[in-house]
Amino acid sequence: MTKDQLFTRLSSKAAAVLTRRRALLAGTVAVASAGTAGVLAAVTGEEPVRPALPAAGPPAHRLAKPSAYRLQPLTGYGPPAAAPHKTLVRHEPFLKISGRGRTMVLTFDDGPDPRYTPHILDTLAEYDVRAMFFVCGEMAVDNQDLLARMADEGHIVGNHTWSHPLLTRLTRSRMRSEMERTSDVIEDAYGERPEWFRAPYGAWNRAAFQLGAELGMEPLAWSVDTLDWTTPGTRTIVGRVENGAAPGVVVLSHDAGGNRSQSVRALRDYLPQLLDSGYHITVPRRHYA
Ligand code: ZN
Repeated sequence: MTKDQLFTRLSSKAAAVLTRRRALLAGTVAVASAGTAGVLAAVTGEEPVRPALPAAGPPAHRLAKPSAYRLQPLTGYGPPAAAPHKTLVRHEPFLKISGRGRTMVLTFDDGPDPRYTPHILDTLAEYDVRAMFFVCGEMAVDNQDLLARMADEGHIVGNHTWSHPLLTRLTRSRMRSEMERTSDVIEDAYGERPEWFRAPYGAWNRAAFQLGAELGMEPLAWSVDTLDWTTPGTRTIVGRVENGAAPGVVVLSHDAGGNRSQSVRALRDYLPQLLDSGYHITVPRRHYA
């Protein structure tokens, strides 16, 4: 991934923040290549050095929980909260999931966007498949209905920061604010605090892992990057998913951040093909320990 490609992606963002982000991006090429290493490991069949996550069981029980949560009274009388979960501080993000047979995870970043996310949700519902959405707080706050729909339909919502900054250039307190505000909006709209986070541009550092753990979240990267944000054409996106398909693979796509109609169309094409090939499309189990 070249710096120019990153700029292309950012060109759709507001001009006011562009200059600042370009300055930040001067240092992103090295961190972006970390994602490429994961892709190469998957493509060549090498075992990634990072641990794999266990896949979730049958999705049925997942459907009930978020809705049940929202039916509880907001104050006072509900059942006692679960004991606080202790999240380990990781040194690297998860790249893949483990699981019996042909298991894959589909992830969609940067949304939700009312122009594209509903179509993605429609396709997932048509095939009765659960996926992960790493949302940005600034998008989620204006589209809380879409987070509620994700909860109702059993999808997992993860934290992708508030404004999609390069975390490695932030102070610890700004990094915390980016992550914490986003978890707050997710809790309001989705009904639960997120248990997964993903650093923008795949740029992680020690503080990001520490803060993620403090906020009860596990870091998830990806093993196949569709590069759909470069709008390479629907067929190219479909080809990248099909060529990268393998047990445990985590696929990165986007439902916001620009025109994502190719990503929407590609899903309609590759999802039934993956299912026909015997893949079980799932989400990671909660509270991996
Ligand atoms: Zn992103």
